Amino acid sequence: MYRLSCIHCGAEYAPGEIIYTCPKCGHLLTVDHDLDAISVTREDWNRRPISVWRYRELLPVTIPPVTLQEGGTPLYHLERIGRELGLPHLYAKHEGMNPTGSFKDRGMTVGVSMAIQLGMKSVACASTGNTSASLAAYAAKAGIPAIVLLPAGKVALGKVAQALMHGARVIAIRDNFDVALAMVRNLCIEQGIYLLNSVNPYRLEGQKTIGFEAIDQLGEVPDRMVLPVGNAGNISAVYKGLRELEHLGFIDRLPMMTGIQAAGSQPVVEAISGGLPEVRPEMHPETVATAIRIGAPVNGEKALIAIRETGGTAGSVTDEEILSMQRELAQKEGIGVEPASAASVAGIKKLIEEGAIDRDERIVCVVTGHLLKDPETVIKQCPSPVEIDATEQALLSVVRSSF
Ligand SMILES: *Cc1c(COP(=O)(O)O)cnc(C)c1O
Ligand SMILES: [Zn+2]
Repeated sequence: MYRLSCIHCGAEYAPGEIIYTCPKCGHLLTVDHDLDAISVTREDWNRRPISVWRYRELLPVTIPPVTLQEGGTPLYHLERIGRELGLPHLYAKHEGMNPTGSFKDRGMTVGVSMAIQLGMKSVACASTGNTSASLAAYAAKAGIPAIVLLPAGKVALGKVAQALMHGARVIAIRDNFDVALAMVRNLCIEQGIYLLNSVNPYRLEGQKTIGFEAIDQLGEVPDRMVLPVGNAGNISAVYKGLRELEHLGFIDRLPMMTGIQAAGSQPVVEAISGGLPEVRPEMHPETVATAIRIGAPVNGEKALIAIRETGGTAGSVTDEEILSMQRELAQKEGIGVEPASAASVAGIKKLIEEGAIDRDERIVCVVTGHLLKDPETVIKQCPSPVEIDATEQALLSVVRSSF
């Protein structure tokens, strides 16, 4: 049992209403579960395979879900990087290991299931790339058409490839993501298409399971959870889910929610460090981490609550720091992520150097998407393969100079 409610004015709406923001005041909606009516135990959950659907009592879907077996992603102990930073308890939850290679799949299994449950016939989103890849795959699984709007020329190659191959109608807008989102919101409302950006409160329900899994895998509540922030849906979702676990009595404290943005696109960081009541949009967001190249985070209002209520923080990292951590994760830990994902770990490196966090903390960094999403940025940073004549001598001379 659940209903939709406005996080600003508290107005309540029936779960079947097709609305994305509060019709009374325009603010964000959230899914309110009747937690006192939920009788599941942690033992019940532990008996099920670890995945988004382990936690189905806290999800709004009542039909058989549209699923590609999302979630259950590995939690890696970052031994080498942690040792170098003096952080013995540093972990990375590798969301790149989801079916389409990013955490967006957790949102889409729930979001597309809800589209079907609500009787919607088509779905759409604006995307910096991963949302479109994921929506395209889940719409294919559901057998319904998907329309995706991308900022022209600003989407990593692997993500466009996925959206196209899974059969979405891919439309490139000659402007940035924020403009594409405004356009798709109008389109959906006018044409009766189901909107699956992170303004959709049902999508965030799926994403909150990252926090549930992290706790189940770590065996305790981490002191800090660190997420890259673009539209700020994910950090808001994880916070919301953990509040629900607290209400159920499954946990007795919350991790400090910590958001990391790119220096060229950091409106949430500015709101937190400036103590502002709301997030002021950055009009010209720019960063190599295209997944977080967002100037007007739609979930900014929720993210400020998540960070402030848990005593967390927000910080920014330069493109250079992001790419350098992408290489460190790949070469010191064997973990391949796309640039935006490396921002969370790069952010921790910066915060520890600034003395802003305690070295004993148990820290879970969410690394959000897979290395293969953005091969062009990888190729640009790495030396080319050494090309040689097909002789033993040429081979040996390269091998000798390699150790
Ligand atoms: C979507 C995305 C983000 C940003 O998540 P938000 O919920 O928009 O803050 C970060 N990294 C990757 C790889 C993403 O796909
Ligand atoms: Zn309202």
